[in-house]
Amino acid sequence: MRKVAIYGKGGIGKSTTTQNTVAGLAELEKKVMVVGCDPKADSTRLLLGGLAQKSVLDTLREEGEDVDLEDVRKEGFAETLCVESGGPEPGVGCAGRGIITSINLLESLGAYDESENLDYVFYDVLGDVVCGGFAMPIREGKAQEIYIVVSGEMMAMYAANNICKGITRYAQTGGVRLGGLICNSRNVDNEKDMIKAFAERLGTQMIYFLPRDNMVQRAEINRKTVIEYDPTCEMAQHYRNLAKAVNENEMFVIPTPMHTDNLEKILLEYGLLN
Ligand code: ATP
Ligand code: MG
Repeated sequence: MRKVAIYGKGGIGKSTTTQNTVAGLAELEKKVMVVGCDPKADSTRLLLGGLAQKSVLDTLREEGEDVDLEDVRKEGFAETLCVESGGPEPGVGCAGRGIITSINLLESLGAYDESENLDYVFYDVLGDVVCGGFAMPIREGKAQEIYIVVSGEMMAMYAANNICKGITRYAQTGGVRLGGLICNSRNVDNEKDMIKAFAERLGTQMIYFLPRDNMVQRAEINRKTVIEYDPTCEMAQHYRNLAKAVNENEMFVIPTPMHTDNLEKILLEYGLLN
């Protein structure tokens, strides 16, 4: 079983990209479980057709320890398994801790057992790097393979670089590796070349370039992944390509984060030339 986590700046497209990639993997007949690690609990909405999934932490709060797997895990598009970790009450407790509590519970309920025949588990992790909690799935060895969603916008690259620092911190002891950057385009000038260069400097690869496409919004308003909503459209094919690239990926590295000065140089070099 591959344990994948998707990181990236808030609002960059982690949840959308995760669910569409998972839909692509499901089409490749992979058995996938998605665990949303965001208190917003919107990581599985498109796979579940908008069904409001009760989070693990809410279930624990309401029902005590007596929780069944079926209470917190629902089947979504193409037999994908969907879980929302949920979060602490706003203003109290640590979101990162809550995620670990959820994952531990899933483990004890047998969600990761051999008999489940999982090929993948995907963690869609809380966006902004505000505290050590964000790194919890990495720290605790729950995630082994990281993909960072990024665009050519400076703040997205800045966040990606910070996430790399987090990975580097735990990579030696925990074995977590970076599998690549997924560029989710914001139509910035020279975006593809810039993110390729950025990836190279981080010692990794741009595993895929996703164009910006309003089809994503159209599918979203219909509470579906693009792959389910319009399987023949171009964007669906892009997500399939990304799923295939992830499935065939063999490049797993400990990243080499950049100095902020050098990061800004890349932006100047690629972004502002013309
Ligand atoms: P958060 O950090 O809040 O969890 P996120 O990183 O999970 O955010 P999403 O919720 O997946 O981000 O996406 C934010 C918005 O961007 C969504 O409304 C989504 O439809 C849109 N979006 C994502 N990718 C694309 C794309 N390639 N083209 C067009 N719109 C996109
Ligand atoms: Mg999200």
